Amino acid sequence: MRIYLDHNATTPVRAEVVLAMARVLRDTYGNPSSTHAEGAAARSQLDDARERVASLLGAAPREVTFTASATEANNTALLGLLAARGAETAHVVSTAIEHPSVEAALAHHEARGGSVTRVAVGSEGRVDAAEVLAAIRPETALVSVIWANNETGVIQPVEAVAEGARERGVPFHSDATQAVGKWRVDLGRVPCDLLSLSAHKLGGPKGSGCLVARHGIAFEPRLLGGPQEGRRRGGTENVAGIVGLGVACALAEAELPERLEGYGSLRDRLWNGIQKAVPRVRRNGSPEHVLPNTLNVEFEATAGEVLLQALDLEGVAVSAGAACASGSIDPSPILVAMGRSPEQARGSLRWSVGHGNDAAQIDRVLDRLPGLVERVRRAESA
Ligand code: PMP
Repeated sequence: MRIYLDHNATTPVRAEVVLAMARVLRDTYGNPSSTHAEGAAARSQLDDARERVASLLGAAPREVTFTASATEANNTALLGLLAARGAETAHVVSTAIEHPSVEAALAHHEARGGSVTRVAVGSEGRVDAAEVLAAIRPETALVSVIWANNETGVIQPVEAVAEGARERGVPFHSDATQAVGKWRVDLGRVPCDLLSLSAHKLGGPKGSGCLVARHGIAFEPRLLGGPQEGRRRGGTENVAGIVGLGVACALAEAELPERLEGYGSLRDRLWNGIQKAVPRVRRNGSPEHVLPNTLNVEFEATAGEVLLQALDLEGVAVSAGAACASGSIDPSPILVAMGRSPEQARGSLRWSVGHGNDAAQIDRVLDRLPGLVERVRRAESA
């Protein structure tokens, strides 16, 4: 039996989600835009899902726009908001540790004549809220800060940034893709104007996400050609995928306290075991402000990619840096932004636990890991 410890890359789809999606695919084939009964049935599924997503986040259902991914939601949030404000050359404040789907949108904005300040992070992978707010200028049109980083799991001070941005009258976006389902993301407490998430990070299907835009904040659609989603996103809705997202959100809402506790105890068991059994290891990122499921560890003088492959052969799935960057030999820009050398970044692996993991699996990993690390280190120094 394989042991899957890469839940930040994607999660297995929950059985409840599979069932609900299968039912929709079989029975609810209507086009949600059609006015007949089949269409109304599909529309009603979308309404239910919208309510579930909104309920998990403390938002209003009408504030949820379904998208095909968090990548689409992030692109829409940034470029769509700037376009709606005629702010294509305005200034944006963000961070040095955003996901590529935000970073690439920032780079696109710069290429079109806009300017961006990327606030640096400290060695623990966290931005300072005061530094983010100090970067705001009169011409700043948007602040965007990731809620929790995908590689380190480090949680950013989004509450302080969101409040400060609001006081200064600047819209605030957060990519909460990794936080939702593993952390309390409550828009009643954090005054976020725009928030992105993706179903496949919380037990839902791939190809389904959403952008939450609060209090009527406007953005220009990225997909033109249809009246769907209140004219905010053209294209016939992925009804089954959206239903899957809704069920995943309902599960997250019901299970959050036990996830915080259960994931945290597995992650801590893994880290304690690694520290005991493997010499010359170091944890990357704040151990205090971190998702309960994520552990990023540097194995000194060890080729991370080789260790990843050795673990894979033993039936254990982990990640070296971001999944999207795997296969490339570039060191993780996130770890480099935290001051790690390229060598240290290459020796780092991300372990992310989730639904289906248990203590026996962690112990099996801990049985095998020390020998594998020793072998990889010996090969490195040979
Ligand atoms: N943001 C973060 C923080 C992520 O981890 C990911 C997934 N790697 C995304 C955005 C993109 O999500 P999707 O796969 O839905 O495009």
